[in-house]
Amino acid sequence: MCEEKEARAAVLAATRGMLEHRLTSGTSGNVSARLDGGTIVITPSGLPYQDMGPGDLVVITMAGEPVTPGAGGLAPSSEYQLHTACYQAFPEVAAVLHSHPLYASMFAAARQPVPAVIDEAVIFLGGEIPVSPYAISGSARVGTNAVSVLARRASALLASHGLVTVASSPAQALHYAVVSEHCAQVAWGAQALGGHVPLPAATLDTFGEAYRRARGGLS
Ligand SMILES: [Zn+2]
Repeated sequence: MCEEKEARAAVLAATRGMLEHRLTSGTSGNVSARLDGGTIVITPSGLPYQDMGPGDLVVITMAGEPVTPGAGGLAPSSEYQLHTACYQAFPEVAAVLHSHPLYASMFAAARQPVPAVIDEAVIFLGGEIPVSPYAISGSARVGTNAVSVLARRASALLASHGLVTVASSPAQALHYAVVSEHCAQVAWGAQALGGHVPLPAATLDTFGEAYRRARGGLS
């Protein structure tokens, strides 16, 4: 992702997808894409998604310094440090999506990882969805804590908060976030039915390796 106009459209489309898939509501959650030159384009703070246009998105540096404010001087999402931390830690990541889906948030509140109960969890997410340690919303620590568990996973739970997903594009981040919420719901249901049957080790190895290859940038 490098061309700014395309990146703005892709970020906006992903925000609309978050609403359609009920991954978030109101003004919560945020989406960004990496641009050339060490900057990112990110959703603004406090603007409902249904009212958001491409000109409302904000361009900032990795240090959070404003490059292009949103229309009318809109500031970047208060969680921008979660996004910049992911880009700085993982050069292969080109999009970050933070959401508050119901079932994933239940696991985040219980501070329990979402187990890899179905093949899709391994193919698209790399395996179980880990829990990153708690940090207060809007702090730099949310980012550093998330990075500590995202090296080999597409999604992480933010303890007592929600979900963060990294990918190669905003559309892929949306897809992975939808898969994450689906896995959390299936895991919850499987627990109610007496517990899931663990996937075979060969499945975890084969599909886990496929995820790592597809993601790139991993040793
Ligand atoms: Zn949040």
